Amino acid sequence: MHELTVVSNIFKIILETAESNNLSKISKVSLKVGRQRHLAPDLMKFAFDSVSKNTIASGAFLDIDRVDIKMKCLSCGLEFTVKDNTYLCISCGSAELETISGKDLLIESIEGEV
Ligand SMILES: [Zn+2]
Repeated sequence: MHELTVVSNIFKIILETAESNNLSKISKVSLKVGRQRHLAPDLMKFAFDSVSKNTIASGAFLDIDRVDIKMKCLSCGLEFTVKDNTYLCISCGSAELETISGKDLLIESIEGEV
């Protein structure tokens, strides 16, 4: 499961961040996940529940904000949101695109108690 690997890596950072902020309990973690990452939110939540067991993040709520895939066409310059995995410019049909967003994978915030 791809999600488990990704969540395990993120979780290490979450714990380190919580420790350096002297948190004794983590209640909520917010993530930004680009749709281009192909990570299923429900599988991420499942993985999070499993890796956070017996840690200060046990029972914490995982909030996942999915970021749309935005592309810029290198032919005509149009910026658009990719839908249905169609990687073609919606104006001129060019396949020469540059990713603006959608590859995101970051921890937006960690909430907890000191
Ligand atoms: Zn175009």
